[in-house]
Amino acid sequence: LPSDQKAPLRLLLAGPRGFCAGVDRAIRVVEEALRRYGAPVYVRHEIVHNRTVVEGLEAKGAIFVEELDEVPEDAHVVFSAHGVPKSVPAEARRRNLLYLDATCPLVSKVHREAERHFAGGGPDQRHILMIGHAGHPEVVGTMGQLPPGAVTLINDAREASTVDPQDPNKLAFITQTTLSVDDTAEIVEILRQRFPNIEGPRREDICYATTNRQMAVKELAPECDLVIVIGAPNSSNSQRLREVAERSGAKRALLVPKLSDMDWSELEGVKTLGISAGASAPESLVQEMITALSRRYDLQIEERIVKEENINFRLPHPLSDET
Ligand code: SF4
Repeated sequence: LPSDQKAPLRLLLAGPRGFCAGVDRAIRVVEEALRRYGAPVYVRHEIVHNRTVVEGLEAKGAIFVEELDEVPEDAHVVFSAHGVPKSVPAEARRRNLLYLDATCPLVSKVHREAERHFAGGGPDQRHILMIGHAGHPEVVGTMGQLPPGAVTLINDAREASTVDPQDPNKLAFITQTTLSVDDTAEIVEILRQRFPNIEGPRREDICYATTNRQMAVKELAPECDLVIVIGAPNSSNSQRLREVAERSGAKRALLVPKLSDMDWSELEGVKTLGISAGASAPESLVQEMITALSRRYDLQIEERIVKEENINFRLPHPLSDET
């Protein structure tokens, strides 16, 4: 449409949004493995929870599988950014697979905390309460650092209020990295009230990227008739961003995996639209959305950056000598 026939639309872009340092590193691991070793390179689980990323890597020669038994002998296999239970690298070694671990360093940090609390199962062992969502691969990976029974999963405030540990004085808690900052604070508060001697992380387990993206959405949500979060339904941090938008005052909030999933009728009556993107969603998806919007509306774009990010993670061994 010519611009004088387009309806005006105010577009608030949340910053930071989209890729975090852990996702960027995980994708580079697969790309670098393909460059060094040639195709195919196998990847256990979606490297990050985004179909566009997965399909882009498939086009370059990556093959995605759910379990190691789908990987042939002598192949290279990459473990996803979410982390894996200890049994997975053990199985890879047993089968002589050449594996590369793309687990985000901030997830690995939580794995080490869990091991520290477990203290080798000796007299100093603390029973661990893990705040997280059942079935998410990060939770499976973190709980799988320790023997069965060492960690109890706490899904929500209700479970925090009812959990009945054997020794209330020998407890510790850890969390998934991509939770709602506010919900987690409430759950931790319940645990601390009930178990005053519980040990927790010195600093949050919720990562900087999750925290910053939620903060940015909170800032613009009250002005928005609709907030669109570009991200996948199985992406925990994207789902949390959608919830945060609704709870912080946006009239409505939607998760849209990519432009072709967009239902344009959702924009009827919308005067101010907010856009963010989950940590696993590439910026190209945001830009495609803006281009499509600009064909339909006379856009007035404002970017609201609440925090600058300049975090980068090195590639894991043996790719870390990358130049
Ligand atoms: Fe790492 Fe946080 Fe990104 Fe997850 S969301 S990959 S923990 S930086």
